Amino acid sequence: MEKYLTSCPACGRDFEADEEMRAATLEYGCPICATALTPAAFTPQ
Ligand SMILES: [Zn+2]
Repeated sequence: MEKYLTSCPACGRDFEADEEMRAATLEYGCPICATALTPAAFTPQ
């Protein structure tokens, strides 16, 4: 499964996401602070 690394611009938290978590994060926002993230915030690993 594809892995991504993302960094939230609002809370500064870096985290790894798999495809499922990436989709959930795009829908619901950062898991820490709920700020909306764009697909560009995810770097494939
Ligand atoms: Zn955040």
